[in-house]
Amino acid sequence: MWIISDKKERLPVFSKRIQTDKKIVKCLLRVSALGVFHVKINGREIEEYFMPGWTNYNKYVHICPYDITEYMQRENLIEITLADGWYAGRCGYTTKANIYGTQTALYAEIRVTYADREEERICTDESWRVNTSKIVKASFFDGEEIDYRTQSELWERLPYAKAYEYSIPFEEYDYEPTKKIDFFAPTVLFEDEGTLRLDFQQNLTGFLSLVAEGERGAEIEIRHAEMLNADGTLYYANLRSVKATDKLILSGGKDFFDPKFTFHGFRYAEITWKGRVKLSNVQAVALSQAIEYGGKFECSNEIINRIYKNALWGQKDNFISIPCDCPQRDERLGWTGDAQVFCNSAMFNGDCNRFFANYLKLIRTDVLPDGKIPSFVPFFIPVSASTAGVPGWAEAICVIPYQHYLHYGDKQVLIDNLPYAVKHLEYYLSHSENYRLRVVNPFGDWLSVVRADDIDGISQCSLGLSASLISKTYAILGDDANAEKYAEIYRGAKKAFRDEFLLDDGKIVGDSQTIYALSLAVGYVTAAEIKTPFLQSIERAGGRLTTGFIGVRHLLPALCEVGAVDLAYKIAKETEYPSWGYTIANGATTIWERWNGYTVEDGFATPSMNSFNHYSLGSCVEWFYSHVLGIKLSAEQPVCISPSLSKELCFAKGEYKSKTGKIAVEWTCEGDGYHVRVHADEGLEYSYDFKDRQVLSLQKDGNDLYAVLK
Ligand code: BGC
Repeated sequence: MWIISDKKERLPVFSKRIQTDKKIVKCLLRVSALGVFHVKINGREIEEYFMPGWTNYNKYVHICPYDITEYMQRENLIEITLADGWYAGRCGYTTKANIYGTQTALYAEIRVTYADREEERICTDESWRVNTSKIVKASFFDGEEIDYRTQSELWERLPYAKAYEYSIPFEEYDYEPTKKIDFFAPTVLFEDEGTLRLDFQQNLTGFLSLVAEGERGAEIEIRHAEMLNADGTLYYANLRSVKATDKLILSGGKDFFDPKFTFHGFRYAEITWKGRVKLSNVQAVALSQAIEYGGKFECSNEIINRIYKNALWGQKDNFISIPCDCPQRDERLGWTGDAQVFCNSAMFNGDCNRFFANYLKLIRTDVLPDGKIPSFVPFFIPVSASTAGVPGWAEAICVIPYQHYLHYGDKQVLIDNLPYAVKHLEYYLSHSENYRLRVVNPFGDWLSVVRADDIDGISQCSLGLSASLISKTYAILGDDANAEKYAEIYRGAKKAFRDEFLLDDGKIVGDSQTIYALSLAVGYVTAAEIKTPFLQSIERAGGRLTTGFIGVRHLLPALCEVGAVDLAYKIAKETEYPSWGYTIANGATTIWERWNGYTVEDGFATPSMNSFNHYSLGSCVEWFYSHVLGIKLSAEQPVCISPSLSKELCFAKGEYKSKTGKIAVEWTCEGDGYHVRVHADEGLEYSYDFKDRQVLSLQKDGNDLYAVLK
């Protein structure tokens, strides 16, 4: 049964004693919560954060399984603390609390197997006790407050929990949890008797942990920020309504601060206090989903290396239960557009198999009756033109499963999502005439630095991309009739695009970098057709990029495809505004939401929307793997190695952990040619294609390949 505490002040800690004379050979715990929980068994923590994760709590909630056999003794105390989390805390860009409900609740079941094979099942019920924790309050947005003076009552004197009537389906939690993944020591920027201002050199998601000693009742506050003002103080404006303030009230002894129920997006922190306080062991703790990162990339250019690192941190920082847009302001939502443009980069970087399978389930859960895909999930606000069925966002239901298949080869994920992709396409078709999509597109190439009349063309690309991925998916599943049916729709969409948007001289209406790169990626146009106006669109921008969220993923691959490989590298290495390098020159350690997040001329962009930790514009990372290293994935063929070689770099090297093993590529410039080395794990089949390069020598030794090219 679900249980609750009727006390409202402080976070409740529910507990149960399990005593036995018999040896326990197996003990399984399953926990769920309306809110988020933290478990301790005999004082030992299960070190996971924000479980059971974020789902649409109106539809289902996760139940999290733990094997706690090795935690168990003869006398056991199970303690589970509960906080508001997404269920009842402030959440999303409405900034309101209680989106799903006002009452947090706990559900747990413990299955004990004894040496004599007897089994016991213990569930949350009114025999559980409830204590008040040291945590006064905890919120993702506003921070955690801990009063270390709190005395613990004798267990026997604690009140009982109350039963709570609630009915909601459970779904097994089956992907990596959020955990501590890294630690950063601070550099002191400023210090006086009551202030310590720190720089952790990395924009991260997490909190500070520290040890504090001081007078009983003394208060310490920790505030967090991503950037500094010109005078060296912390810049809070872009956090919007978020307080991002943790608070400690000291016991008089040694207090260990290590919060459990909040996270902040920050690089800088300011600790303030009154009275005599000694702080030690101050560090920043980074949290993320505990996925395995098998990808590696490095080259001779430091800007490109830093872009790679910034995007990798953007991924880690925003993978908190779901793929979020940002970790700092009052938003932190699972935007589908952001996820679809970045998912391929993310899957090259690490094993996101189960993480994205879960995200796709969240999308499926919230598809609207007419097939519209929400612009973010879990979805919880009224539908408007911008919150569902938006080109660039909605095709997440086609793009993510297809990329997932290329990386992980799991047909079940295709099968699960295909009906929803079809429904989404039907919604598009019901708003089309002769395959010309007519839906409101409020986002376009979101946050591009040019104003272009390319929105209708972008929408039309979304229609064709959706149809072609559905057709490819049917082909993978062996359904040729449907593969052909959707290929036909794709051809209709392509014709409609070409009739209306492709002009005689190869120009496309809008004439933006994005519309060229995107329509080429979707296959509406050929490289030869658009090469000249595409390159002119870059020349007009001074050889720099102008693309927003939607175009940026396709820009560098499209340049390679039209044969402008060196230009792709130049854009990647660029340090003038707008470029990744410009953000790096201005201190970026993650990918910024907007190219002009901060400029030397204009300072900070509008604080109403200016995150310094959004991965979307980091979707160039897939180009590092697919073009610089040349690791080309395909649904039908083994991996093909085909690097886009250029004298713009002296060397590039990296690794990708594919579903059948690791593949490593390394190339160096030698004189006027190149040396390429490919290494593949035992049993991993791959092919190579050095395109129009002249092969001077080639040696194959098992799964190793050495080539000298000109
Ligand atoms: C979010 C984006 C999102 C966008 C939609 C912003 O507020 O931060 O990442 O995709 O809205 O336009």
